Amino acid sequence: MTTTTMPNPADVERVVRDVLTRHLRPKPVSSEAAAGGIPVLRSVVEQAVAATATSAAKRNPLVVNISARHVHLTQEHVEMLFGPGAKLTPEKDLYQDGYFAAKETVAVVGPRRRMLPNVRVLGPCRPDSQVELAFTDGISLGIDLPVRISGDVKGTPGCVLMGPHGVVELKQGVIRAMRHVHMGPEDLEYYGVKDGDHIHLRIESPGCTTVLEDLAVRAGKGIKLEVHLDTDEGNAVNLEKATQVELVKAEPCKCGH
Ligand SMILES: [Zn+2]
Ligand SMILES: [Zn+2]
Repeated sequence: MTTTTMPNPADVERVVRDVLTRHLRPKPVSSEAAAGGIPVLRSVVEQAVAATATSAAKRNPLVVNISARHVHLTQEHVEMLFGPGAKLTPEKDLYQDGYFAAKETVAVVGPRRRMLPNVRVLGPCRPDSQVELAFTDGISLGIDLPVRISGDVKGTPGCVLMGPHGVVELKQGVIRAMRHVHMGPEDLEYYGVKDGDHIHLRIESPGCTTVLEDLAVRAGKGIKLEVHLDTDEGNAVNLEKATQVELVKAEPCKCGH
């Protein structure tokens, strides 16, 4: 990985520190502020009628959530950003068991020293740090975001992360997460798909009814049925006003090609 397009972290820190001190006031502790301060998973649409069942397997409720921009960190990076011995503090449980939005946030700094302040950290820690942004975020940061499945970060752009204690330069790991649906074994059976397959999502909403094609199926034991879109996609389909959502199996072309 080349780092020639990255600014010197010390340089960035100096330039950005005063921006941060102007924008990042000490966090208020009122519950009102805490509730409003978490941008993750801000929309849930009611259960769909699944018209594409391929078996008598159990139909689980379909939840569609918007995953706002966020960061995953290694424990090492948590300590570099928040101080020696620091640990992520769970603030809000996510829909999938065991996952949480942390109290901690970082600033994401792009190659032209543009930055996004207050990007939420999600826990628990991971083996590799990763930043997931919407295309709109990429444009404002000056990063050409590759569309990747979470965890597949080889050869992706880097950035600088800034926390209250220090700075981390990521050589890679900045992506726009590919739209996807988490499924447990029952869901795989119900929809007749397997891990890595693609499936379509139809969203009915006022003036914005849309089929989003090719959501990646991500399977795992103990996983609840849940679609993740990013903020650009959620806004484009007016998800907050959606009246119905439905997973539609991608059928192979009838002419055999
Ligand atoms: Zn993520
Ligand atoms: Zn997801």
